[in-house]
Amino acid sequence: MRGKFIVFEGIDGCGKSTQINILSRFLFDLSKKNHVLITREPTLQSEQGIQLNKLLKNQTGLAESEVFLNLFVGDRRHHIENLINPTLEYGGIVICDRYILSTLAYQQAQGQNLNNMIAKHRGLPVPDLTLLFDISPEHAMQRIDDSGRDQKTLFEKIEFLKKVRLNYLELSERLPEHKVRIIDASRSIEEIHKKILEVIKKERLFEDI
Ligand code: ADP
Repeated sequence: MRGKFIVFEGIDGCGKSTQINILSRFLFDLSKKNHVLITREPTLQSEQGIQLNKLLKNQTGLAESEVFLNLFVGDRRHHIENLINPTLEYGGIVICDRYILSTLAYQQAQGQNLNNMIAKHRGLPVPDLTLLFDISPEHAMQRIDDSGRDQKTLFEKIEFLKKVRLNYLELSERLPEHKVRIIDASRSIEEIHKKILEVIKKERLFEDI
């Protein structure tokens, strides 16, 4: 039986990694049948992914949005072929930090045409569930500052992130096949985990939750 594909989306600092860790552990401990793969995009496994990681650290922001778009799509195809699909075919659970919606929300904010981007992703696997962590950019950036993490990418500017946030919310309605459920990410770590389990239960993703 094909496994389950769960995607976490939202701006940096919204709490994705924190909840991915908690949920993965929960699912792994839930049943001996569960094999959980935690992965993220962009990867460092493809030429495109390696290039993207360099560009994202480049604060000058000189790269064209079209360059980003093509690199993201190329890296994603590689990720799907080499890691996501084989794991799902094996019956595993794939938990992915960022996927198609990230490209649509960020590169739309960079000026790319949404329909064109959707067309470039046609035929790729869609998640069984997308958890969209919604939070104000101010709050998310405060969390990053508090953590002492110095990983700001060129996308982390408040005005830009406000557009990304709105794009994400619009995409959740526009692309029902991605099964986006919005999570209030301003709550506590425990409350958010509880909410995620409620959503998973409601969506009947697993027999034993
Ligand atoms: P992301 O993966 O989305 O960038 P992280 O999970 O790395 O976000 O969280 C960013 C920072 O905020 C970390 O220092 C983390 O410990 C903290 N954090 C995560 N979730 C919460 C929460 N619900 N409330 C307060 N702080 C949080």
